[in-house]
Amino acid sequence: MKILILGVNGFVGSHLVERVLRETSWEVYGMDLGSHKVAEFLDNPHFHFVEGDISISKEWIEYHVKKCDVVLPLVAIATPKVYVTDPLRVFELDFEENLRIIRQCVKYKKRVIFPSTSEVYGMCPDTEFDEETSCLVTGPIPMQRWIYSTSKQLLDRVIWGYGFRDGLKFTLVRPFNWMGPKLDSLNTAKEGSSRLVTQFAWNLFNGEPLKLVDGGSQRRCFCDVEDAMDGLMAVLRNEGGKADGRIFNIGNPGNDHSVKDIAEMMVEIWKDHPFRLERGTPLSEIVEESSGTFYGKGYQDVLVRTPSIRRMEETFGFKPKIGIKEALRKSLDFFVEEHKAMEKIVETE
Ligand code: UDP
Repeated sequence: MKILILGVNGFVGSHLVERVLRETSWEVYGMDLGSHKVAEFLDNPHFHFVEGDISISKEWIEYHVKKCDVVLPLVAIATPKVYVTDPLRVFELDFEENLRIIRQCVKYKKRVIFPSTSEVYGMCPDTEFDEETSCLVTGPIPMQRWIYSTSKQLLDRVIWGYGFRDGLKFTLVRPFNWMGPKLDSLNTAKEGSSRLVTQFAWNLFNGEPLKLVDGGSQRRCFCDVEDAMDGLMAVLRNEGGKADGRIFNIGNPGNDHSVKDIAEMMVEIWKDHPFRLERGTPLSEIVEESSGTFYGKGYQDVLVRTPSIRRMEETFGFKPKIGIKEALRKSLDFFVEEHKAMEKIVETE
């Protein structure tokens, strides 16, 4: 099988390439702006990487959509701070650029696996979000945060429509707070615009306070990326065509924690971490900050977000296994190693 991954150097793309190369003999064609997260695979004869921007390298993409069997358009902005500060960039990249690729999949009759998001459920009141019955509830227009949720939702609906009208073979996958090594880049953490676990890791690494937005009682279900990849690989393998025309939440409802719990657990792990003790980094405090100060006034939060993973369980036997403490420890350790390596590069320059 030949698979095309656009945004292969991102969090999901880089972990997926690792699994595909380790577990299959498929050919992977990948494009991204950079390659640092996939550097270790560049010499693998089954991995064909090209540096490029999906809004510019249109011919390369069309040629490879035609050539491959499955397309994963993973390029997207997925960090809440940017939804508030630059909503049009989110729309242009996450919706417009991806729509073009979806239309090529329709034209060349290729299977597409589209990364939807748990954000599409928004402020849905259901205790567990179900792919086919839960309502998708977002806020008013001045709350710019919802641009991401609604851009993804519209593309979900367009893909569904192409399946209905033209027989497009598709699967929509909804990640629920996947976390692990390579989640966000150093620059976004520096600017305070990383996702939660990376942001807290950066704060701990620098002895800065961990900020609980609006008190930190909001809850998320965190899913370790290894468990997430078990799910995504099952979808990609698509045995018996069981993933065709379907929507799947992929997450770990067992790791349901408040932001405050996460802060406390990360401080606890960091307290005795050899790297902190060796450097004598002061232990961060946990403070509260309003969402208006942290994100700006177009932010509105999701207070609880729990996936139903019944469809993944029944269809593929999916069972996430990695508990929150192990997942946090893995993330922190990776973050430390990555930053130690980066400091060394800066020193020698
Ligand atoms: N958050 C926080 N402090 C931070 C970063 C995030 O309290 O330094 C909160 C944020 O307001 C949200 C939750 O943590 O309620 C998860 O944020 P994340 O960026 O991981 O993405 P989301 O799950 O909202 O898509």
